[in-house]
Amino acid sequence: LLIYYNGEFVTKENATVSIYDHGFLYGDGVFEGIRAYNGRVFKLQEHVDRLYDSAKAIALEVPISKEEMSEAILETLRKNDLRDAYIRPIVSRGVGDLGLDPRKCPKPSIYIVSQEWAAMYGDLYEVGLKAITVGIRRNAPDALSPNIKSLNYLNNILAKIEANEKGGDEAIFLDQNGFVSEGSGDNIFVIKNGKIYTPPTINNLKGITRATAIELLEERGYEVIVGNLGLFDMYTADEIFVTGTAAEAAPITKLDGRPIGDGSVGPITKAAVAAFEEVTGSTGTP
Ligand code: PLP
Repeated sequence: LLIYYNGEFVTKENATVSIYDHGFLYGDGVFEGIRAYNGRVFKLQEHVDRLYDSAKAIALEVPISKEEMSEAILETLRKNDLRDAYIRPIVSRGVGDLGLDPRKCPKPSIYIVSQEWAAMYGDLYEVGLKAITVGIRRNAPDALSPNIKSLNYLNNILAKIEANEKGGDEAIFLDQNGFVSEGSGDNIFVIKNGKIYTPPTINNLKGITRATAIELLEERGYEVIVGNLGLFDMYTADEIFVTGTAAEAAPITKLDGRPIGDGSVGPITKAAVAAFEEVTGSTGTP
């Protein structure tokens, strides 16, 4: 497996990160998670745009252009002969000293890691995930906004640990005001009486799969309403599903021990999953 590192390709064994890289020392950097289906990278432009927006928000200047980044991502897939893959571009503040001052890091580091990948939840797409609302709240939408896909994922990791301890497949965050935010790695859709609701992205990551799901569902005649949701809306929903690059569209059939709807995967969730399969099913060459 070859990994892109600052313009060169190195083997997995040689792809090491300096102990002084502030991405490692402080989580000072940004990343993306991207999928390729049948040789075609899904929503490449959107992911590259979000990577550069995340970098901008933390005042990190990516040393290559967006075009060069896109090409490096495609080249990583070609070099590894991957057609169904997960791709992880990472831009860190780079190597500095033990102090946190980014002025000590003259050159950001760029890594692109890829691997073969199939849908994340296996059999759970049929029966649905058990989700747990966690006590830890999502980052507030201030300077450390959940819109930044930064290397500092402690908030999400603590949520995942809490869900794991309680036997959940996924963690659901509330925000600092108690509104529904998102999962530890995916966005949330709630269905009630045939209408589809999803929280505004002020309190969650501006998911690219979320935007795709809204577009696909609207094209198919469903109404999607963007607005704040509370726990009550989730507990009394007919259906819930989450969307993400890794999860794709995945049903949630149990939340905090309560069955969602009748506890089986509902028709609108099935329509969302089918629509997503339709758009990712095409073929191409990286
Ligand atoms: N929310 C969080 C916290 C994530 O890490 C992700 C994954 O990237 C998502 C949502 C879903 O976003 P996307 O659909 O762009 O992958």
